[in-house]
Amino acid sequence: MDETPKTHVRKPRAVAPVWKKLGLATAEELLFHFPRRYEDRARWLNPFEAREGESVTVRGKIATARFARWRGGRNCFEANFQPDSQFEVLQLAWYNMPFLKNYLTEGKELIIHGKIVVSGKKRKIIHPEFELVAHDANDSIHLNRIAPVYPSTSGLNQRLIRNEIYGLLFREKVHFEEIHPVPPGFKEIGEAMCGVHFPETWEQLEECRRRLAFDELLAMQVLLAHRRRQAKSWHKVRVKPKLELCTELLKSLPFEPTKAQQRVFAEVDRDLERPQPMNRMLQGDVGSGKTLVAAHTLLRALESGKNSAFLAPTETLAEQHYQNLTRLLEPLGVSVRLFTRSRKSTDAALFGRKGVVYVGTHALFQEKVELPNLGLGIIDEQHKFGVLQRQAFLGKGDHPDLLVMTATPIPRTLCLTLYGDLDISILDEMPPGRKAIRTVLRSRPELPKVWKFIRKEMALGRQAYIVYPVLEENEQSELKSVQAAFREMKQLFGDKEVVMLHGRMDADEKAEKMRAFRQKQSHVMVATSVIEVGVDVPDATLMVIEHAERFGLAQLHQLRGRVGRGDAQSYCVLVGEAKSPESWQRLKIMEETQDGFVLAEEDLNIRGPGNILGTEQSGLPPLRVANLARDLKILAMAREVAAELGASDPDLARHPELKKRLEIYWSAAGPQAAN
Ligand code: ADP
Ligand code: MG
Repeated sequence: MDETPKTHVRKPRAVAPVWKKLGLATAEELLFHFPRRYEDRARWLNPFEAREGESVTVRGKIATARFARWRGGRNCFEANFQPDSQFEVLQLAWYNMPFLKNYLTEGKELIIHGKIVVSGKKRKIIHPEFELVAHDANDSIHLNRIAPVYPSTSGLNQRLIRNEIYGLLFREKVHFEEIHPVPPGFKEIGEAMCGVHFPETWEQLEECRRRLAFDELLAMQVLLAHRRRQAKSWHKVRVKPKLELCTELLKSLPFEPTKAQQRVFAEVDRDLERPQPMNRMLQGDVGSGKTLVAAHTLLRALESGKNSAFLAPTETLAEQHYQNLTRLLEPLGVSVRLFTRSRKSTDAALFGRKGVVYVGTHALFQEKVELPNLGLGIIDEQHKFGVLQRQAFLGKGDHPDLLVMTATPIPRTLCLTLYGDLDISILDEMPPGRKAIRTVLRSRPELPKVWKFIRKEMALGRQAYIVYPVLEENEQSELKSVQAAFREMKQLFGDKEVVMLHGRMDADEKAEKMRAFRQKQSHVMVATSVIEVGVDVPDATLMVIEHAERFGLAQLHQLRGRVGRGDAQSYCVLVGEAKSPESWQRLKIMEETQDGFVLAEEDLNIRGPGNILGTEQSGLPPLRVANLARDLKILAMAREVAAELGASDPDLARHPELKKRLEIYWSAAGPQAAN
């Protein structure tokens, strides 16, 4: 038996200030700081046999190094790296990190990690991660084993993190309490913690990871169940609305609402009659008519004497909603006000009045802003907001009703488990008369033909979006930047006005560019994916997406949804590079379907859920060990256990360890940045 005294992590032990850089305050939090990847340092692969784009870990020495500075202040540090037991050298390059030249001097022994670039006969790695080999007593923690690599910020090197965690686990033998009886077939927590940080084999790693995934998913499910109960426990006094305005709204429209829209109206109406606050998510593909549902809901709130706020993630989008809602609601005598950072409604008197709809961005829920009598909040593109932002927004009112909207379809399995605290409505029907958007996949050599086609369409008065994945030209990526593309497009479409839109422009500039495009003062918009959400220009019927392989299917689908908004036939051209048959196949699906749900399922299969939704969409802390695509079975188990707990011990009075773990889990969420 091991008689070493055990430290209970129960009493949180403060860690050295250096860990604060990682946002970690206690030893326990440090141990829940899991590796982001692992390197097999027991079996080295030959980097000269690796394929282009493959990630390799190599041990060796800096043979020669040189530093170059160019005009414009840019610089490059290059080294020839001699892998152990190889004759050839690898070329390493780091751009704009001049300090490395004093650090990575000739003869230094390193382990590097990065993607192989093949250029002619040479093999390069651009910006490899690296770790100095120290040759000290701790070597066995770092070498000749599967070594963990941790998320880190500069200044904290991997050896330091590894040493500390190793010390806690294997020298101090920190003791962990189970948060719940271990399900059969799973490892116990202490073993799982050791195995996830310092696995002996890949198989052991996976088993330990699964064990921790169970804990993590259990914490998540308990949290969701708790939220749901809280939401349902509140009682509101409802004023019965007259429903006149909603009827008037429908009368004023040139079209009938779809069956799906009518169904959702009824779902919303029912929610708004219950004493609990509404807590509903509306999913509807781009163009399915979510705005009308929003307008209906706003009117219901107004009729019961409440003000409402409509939140959008960008100024461009807020402005567009403002215009649409003004058009729909002002004829019915409703005041619509825009509130963004650059366009604050100065009309203070309005704020106290009844029957106002505030449309805005994050600016709406800043502390200073008061939204008296707020009875309803609607959030468009809700995944662009973090949970804290959503809470700040709702905090402006007294348990206001909430409707969140999303155009990213979420596979059902995930929806039930991630959004267990929300009721779901789905607009699964498109307004009639929509023409399918013709989608084609083209390779880069076919670009001249693509441009020829685009010109021909533009001669008919159509407008085009041309989308690129990155903004600035840099040496790390061979992608054409949107700025370079802008120059190129100006030449290509010499007689047409070309504008550029990207995320680094300030709001005024963006709004100005959007306005020009909408009013047809310009015909071609060269943009990054900032145009992704909600932009609506009827004459824009052409969407060209360059480097399409860089985008997820769900994102491509969103981008495609920017066209096909008017009567004319719309086209989406995906220009891709067939890096592998799989990636080409993946893009091919875009040609075949326009069903966002199908694409979302496909994305889930191929790339895992992080890429379609990222857990921030659910307002939950990011998952650190669990993987929603792989661990669906574990998720189902966790869900069941959480349901039992909800019935038998809802406040977790008899599960103090679980309660504490929830805190750790929650602390990882951090303030989620606006975006
Ligand atoms: P999204 O769900 O992407 O936000 P919108 O609300 O912007 O979609 O609607 C897209 C377009 O469809 C708008 O121009 C809107 O006026 C129109 N629309 C909405 N509902 C209907 C309907 N029932 N019949 C015809 N057109 C509709
Ligand atoms: Mg919309």
